[in-house]
Amino acid sequence: MEAERRKPIPVEEAIEKVMRYRVEGSSETIPIQACDHRRLAEPVMARHPVPAFDKSPYDGFALRSEDTMNVTQDNPVEFEVIEHIGAGHVPKKRLKPRQATRIMTGAQIPEGADCVAMFEVCQSYEKNAKPYMSIKRKMQTGQNIIQKGSEIIEGEVLVEKGTWINPGVKALLSTFGYNMVKVAKKPVIAVIATGTELLEVNEPLEPGKIRNSNAYMITSQIERAGGTAKYIGKLPDELDESFEKIKLTLEEADILITTGGVSVGDYDLMPEIYKKLGAKVLFNKIAMRPGSVTTAAVKGSKLLYGLSGNPSACYVGFELFVRPVIQHALYNRNIYLKRIKAVLAEDFPKPNPFTRFVRSYISYDGPTVHAHLSGIDKSNVISSLANATALMVLPGGTRGFKRNDIVDVLLLNDTDGEQHFL
Ligand code: AMP
Ligand code: MG
Repeated sequence: MEAERRKPIPVEEAIEKVMRYRVEGSSETIPIQACDHRRLAEPVMARHPVPAFDKSPYDGFALRSEDTMNVTQDNPVEFEVIEHIGAGHVPKKRLKPRQATRIMTGAQIPEGADCVAMFEVCQSYEKNAKPYMSIKRKMQTGQNIIQKGSEIIEGEVLVEKGTWINPGVKALLSTFGYNMVKVAKKPVIAVIATGTELLEVNEPLEPGKIRNSNAYMITSQIERAGGTAKYIGKLPDELDESFEKIKLTLEEADILITTGGVSVGDYDLMPEIYKKLGAKVLFNKIAMRPGSVTTAAVKGSKLLYGLSGNPSACYVGFELFVRPVIQHALYNRNIYLKRIKAVLAEDFPKPNPFTRFVRSYISYDGPTVHAHLSGIDKSNVISSLANATALMVLPGGTRGFKRNDIVDVLLLNDTDGEQHFL
């Protein structure tokens, strides 16, 4: 039987094709304690001004600046200290001329006061068992007062929908009383590994067999991308059994990833399974390395990814074609991997007939970012994945690259993303 001829399409075109079938996001409301690493399904709004009252940035004395008008180094002015307020307490007394309030950082400014003098510039003492203080400096109106609403005005949009919740976002959520947070629901993605050679992690190695690492790698990539992985299991290369299981799984999942069996080998059953399912194949050959056999198909509104069995190809196929679909469902507007420029740290002599995505990591040398290969650059290799935090992009139609050449690098652990792929 002659192998089928497939026409490779550019990576950008393949991305565009899957994005036409992307799933739309939905939201759920969860307790603030559980919202880390999720994405906002609504913007964070300032529900009140910050600060909500005029407050002191220092420990010191609140007073009327006009009382210090004629003060000099030799002619201090004396104040009667009429109240003492700590943060969280509300001043009850209004200041009259030559009266001051002892005030702590974060406490509300009393009525009548228009400035705060730090302890360091005041002299405190007692007279007839009553507290007094004196100051030798002129104070300005408004000096050392954090004005109500000076940081944030009520109604302001502080963080956009789709933003990844980091500790700072969580601080804002709590500031404004978001006890419950509306976040994007994690899309659920089913995973099936195919291959008669596969053993499960708990099984001892046997001649001719390998352990199924793709399923675990992919579930981990799904989680990193913000989805929920549902590992269905592994299938031997047997048509009927595989078809039935995939058909059944598709009834329950919106997106199904299979690994293996998408090439043109004798036991590569996925093309036949797509046919039997009546799924429309969007592409089955991409002008890229690794992962040129990466396949995507649609059945109704459901996306099926047939990722290569080769671990590195499988990994890259996920990051390029599945991750943006997940990010879209999470309301991220920048669905693509963050892209930076870096200086190649070593020679890469291989020519690149197709666009090459090289497993890499970056290092910093002063202001310069260097891109390093994370291991052997072959699609069947697993060892280069553990150190990979980035994918170097070497455009198709180029010869080898040299140390110190400038290359594009896609960052795998970033949460901001990019609006366009390249
Ligand atoms: P395939 O795409 O099915 O032709 O598989 C290509 C290569 O990837 C073969 O050497 C397989 O043994 C290997 N492979 C397939 N599936 C997995 C898996 N789940 N985990 C690790 N390696 C795999
Ligand atoms: Mg196989």
